[in-house]
Amino acid sequence: LALSETDCDKFRAILGEKHVLCDADSLATYAVDETHAQSAEPDLVLKPASVNEISSILSHCNKMEIPVVPRGGGSGVSGGALAHRGGVVLCLERLNRIIRVDHDNQTLTVETGAITGMVQEHLVAQGLCLPPDPGSREFCQIGGNLAECAAGPKSVKYGAFRDYVLNLEVVLPSGEIIWTGANVRKMACGYNLTQLMLGSEGTLGIITKAVFKVIRAPSHQVLMRLSFNSLAAAAQMITRTFAVGLVPSELEFVDAHGIAAARPNCQEKLPDQVAALLWIGFDGHDEEVLTEDAVKISDLADELGSSEALIAEQIDHRIALWEYRQKVGEAIIEAGAFRDVDVSFPRSQLQTVVEGARRIGAEKGFRVVCFGHSGDGNLHIQILRGDLDEAAWNGPVNDGIRELYELVVGLGGALSGEHGIGCTLTPYMDTLFSATHLALMAGIKAVFDPKGILNPGKILP
Ligand SMILES: Cc1cc2nc3c(=O)[nH]c(=O)nc-3n(C[C@H](O)[C@H](O)[C@H](O)COP(=O)(O)OP(=O)(O)OC[C@H]3O[C@@H](n4cnc5c(N)ncnc54)[C@H](O)[C@@H]3O)c2cc1C
Repeated sequence: LALSETDCDKFRAILGEKHVLCDADSLATYAVDETHAQSAEPDLVLKPASVNEISSILSHCNKMEIPVVPRGGGSGVSGGALAHRGGVVLCLERLNRIIRVDHDNQTLTVETGAITGMVQEHLVAQGLCLPPDPGSREFCQIGGNLAECAAGPKSVKYGAFRDYVLNLEVVLPSGEIIWTGANVRKMACGYNLTQLMLGSEGTLGIITKAVFKVIRAPSHQVLMRLSFNSLAAAAQMITRTFAVGLVPSELEFVDAHGIAAARPNCQEKLPDQVAALLWIGFDGHDEEVLTEDAVKISDLADELGSSEALIAEQIDHRIALWEYRQKVGEAIIEAGAFRDVDVSFPRSQLQTVVEGARRIGAEKGFRVVCFGHSGDGNLHIQILRGDLDEAAWNGPVNDGIRELYELVVGLGGALSGEHGIGCTLTPYMDTLFSATHLALMAGIKAVFDPKGILNPGKILP
């Protein structure tokens, strides 16, 4: 698709010359997100500053059938913000105001182009908190979090972004502006349009404002790191933690391959025999309770044969203890091309999933690293390309990914826990959903976006 000069003039009239970009550098910048080995150049990049500007852009694009790809921070890892069918990339970065913190009702109203970490800092300074904490929070945006149904380590206790949303302002493909619900904690009024927008990955509407419920920020935190020389013992530790009634604020995991990958980048050199690391955190307002919880974890870890249990209370010590969890992602990116398989499953199945991924990898000729939010049963299985040639990378690796999804779905799991479907997972949607499910989803898409202009080619095969 090449846009006409009339289209470009129309966009310039709406936004001003400066916010309509078509130079080679800008198109290249917006051709990629954090989905490695994928790129797609848009025809134009638009940077609106208001909901009315977005409305005018969409009504023109709808009339002219120009594809529109909304873009937040570009930190997505399933290719959601890539313009595979050309058209315009609509950047939300200038819609970044924190509109209101309502202390009486404990709510936050914010424009969705705001950087997530900045919103969180703003709240914490007022003693409040929006708990989901994606690892990308320094550069992802609230709108991207909502569109992807994002989460983070703290979701094991507090839930994902979706659990805090009360109401959304959305621009529909027609250009119409709606609020999806009301600013209330309870609402029983027909179909839930608010929740329908969450995880819709920019295919149903542009989310321009969000109203969240927020909570009082916890005043104390402790973090423990447990080492295990057996994967089975680490997996048991996870289920036992919940079984004894503890409520961790984090429960994270890195497997032996992840430890080996991160080790060169870490100051601490863990011994080779460590088969799994777990991080278990607690937060709250009563220091004594947290200490008691940590003692219980220590006792459980001893019982299950943990080789080391460390505890950190002060922030600098917590950061040091988090080192391997922090560095594993960076090490994978440095190692070259990889595919992200973000599976979600009942958390008692961790060992089956990790061993299954290794077996499938051995059969198909690829290496896997497993890490992630094990308290939620959400693992990021990273398939490393290493020296695989193009034929292997696109053949047996794809077959292996399908087998992996079949394994997880067979355990009662799902394709993605938090990274979304984008364009990378569409070929695998049939492992989870029947033709009936997919037809219902296609019907919903057609109601919102009859001309199919919003983020075409995403989510649905
Ligand atoms: C280092 C790193 C760590 C990460 N850690 C986590 C983690 O802990 N948890 C987690 O869940 N994810 C994580 N991610 C993935 C990613 O950060 C999330 O998916 C994030 O929510 C994407 O937000 P974004 O603003 O960057 O969105 P983008 O990448 O810009 O867009 C993502 C999707 O949302 C759509 N979109 C964006 N804004 C809007 C809007 N306003 N209205 C409608 N649609 C919109 C886009 O069209 C696209 O489909 C991580 C990624 C990286 C690179």
